[in-house]
Amino acid sequence: MTFEELKLAPAILEAVREQGYETPTPIQAEAIPAVLAGHDLLAGAQTGTGKTAAFTLPMLHRLQDGWEAPKRGHGRPIRALVLTPTRELAAQVEESVKAYGKHLKLKSAVIFGGVGMNPQIEKLSKGVDVLVATPGRLLDLADQGHLDLSQVQILVLDEADRMLDMGFIHDVKKVLKLLPADKQSLLFSATFSDEIKELANGLLRQPKHIQV
Ligand code: AMP
Repeated sequence: MTFEELKLAPAILEAVREQGYETPTPIQAEAIPAVLAGHDLLAGAQTGTGKTAAFTLPMLHRLQDGWEAPKRGHGRPIRALVLTPTRELAAQVEESVKAYGKHLKLKSAVIFGGVGMNPQIEKLSKGVDVLVATPGRLLDLADQGHLDLSQVQILVLDEADRMLDMGFIHDVKKVLKLLPADKQSLLFSATFSDEIKELANGLLRQPKHIQV
């Protein structure tokens, strides 16, 4: 299996080559075709398996595929949202989005708590295609009217088990209420407790199951 066989856009393949990746990891080989085909995903994967690229590469492909110049006078809506449990993971994921999307005309931003809100508000006001965020700060910004999540097409819950372990279940559920019902959802978790299964059942529609 090669990245070329996964039918990713040439600009994304070029970025993958520049990362020095030669072959997809097992989770990438399974997840990328499923996400490109529009399926929801329930993926069991530890960190270190290449899970970030497994969701980021096909997500970027789908976004650039549907990219249209924003209409004059209208902002650029957030079309992909990645939720992570920690600011470190959020920052890492956004680095990956930037690296894999370096030849695309997509904009990304990362928001998390513990730092000033104003730079994040300013960034959001300029228009962002891909937002990576921790749930608490995301809700704060949404409550203050700085975020419109009504156009989100792809949602990723990364390390969902850690998100619940850290007590973010209520925040996550509040975020889900801000999103349109019609979207593609990808849930990544290392473990599957009853609580994760319940969250997955409420969110995912006929998901493909992947376990690596
Ligand atoms: P992750 O599981 O997403 O945290 O990724 C773990 C590490 O694997 C990261 O340092 C990635 O840059 C690297 N990686 C991801 N995909 C590949 C690949 N197909 N080939 C080689 N390294 C990769």
